[in-house]
Amino acid sequence: MITQASEGADARAVAVYCAASPHIDESYFEMARMVGAELARHGAAVVNGGGAMGLMGAVNDGALAAGGVAVGVIPQFMYDNGWQHRGLTRLEVVGSMHERKARIAQLTTGAIALPGGVGTLEELLEIITWRKLALYQGNVVVLNYRGFYDPLLSMIERCHTEGFIQRSTTPLYTVVDSVEAAIAAALASPCPATLVSPYDDAAR
Ligand code: AMP
Repeated sequence: MITQASEGADARAVAVYCAASPHIDESYFEMARMVGAELARHGAAVVNGGGAMGLMGAVNDGALAAGGVAVGVIPQFMYDNGWQHRGLTRLEVVGSMHERKARIAQLTTGAIALPGGVGTLEELLEIITWRKLALYQGNVVVLNYRGFYDPLLSMIERCHTEGFIQRSTTPLYTVVDSVEAAIAAALASPCPATLVSPYDDAAR
């Protein structure tokens, strides 16, 4: 089902940022399917880029197989290339990558980053930045599966140590190493969360 990007946030919907690459170890796929299934078990919708490949496809498959809701937000050019998952509960087609990221943030009450490539790293750093600027209210969770995020976390720690990022009483993100902990942290977000798009000038 394809809809225009016009509806508001789903109750208890979690953004899951993750790899589109299929060329990764099977254990990552098992973990991603579990994330989708566990979110479904908690009655939370999965929201992501709507892809069929890699961990994105696995999260969507896991949620749908468990009877859950999976919502995809995909740019027109990817849809034209046929990269969308064909079984999603809802697929929104938007004009650009920027619109996609803003829409995913708008729809969700928390976010989890699984391992991924540059697209995932960019999505994670952007949502942390939006949280820092109080443009995103949901909890941001880094699932540091297999220590995947250790180098990035070291980089961010260096930013703190050298004063590039101020330490705050409100954490910008939470780091966990299990699927269960990731879901608990994401669902502990105030709900409903984000309704402000960083690309909406009127919101500034
Ligand atoms: P990466 O972490 O580099 O694999 O990128 C994941 C992100 O890249 C996704 O969230 C999408 O924004 C985008 N992306 C790259 N390839 C695809 C694809 N085949 N289908 C859907 N989204 C994709």
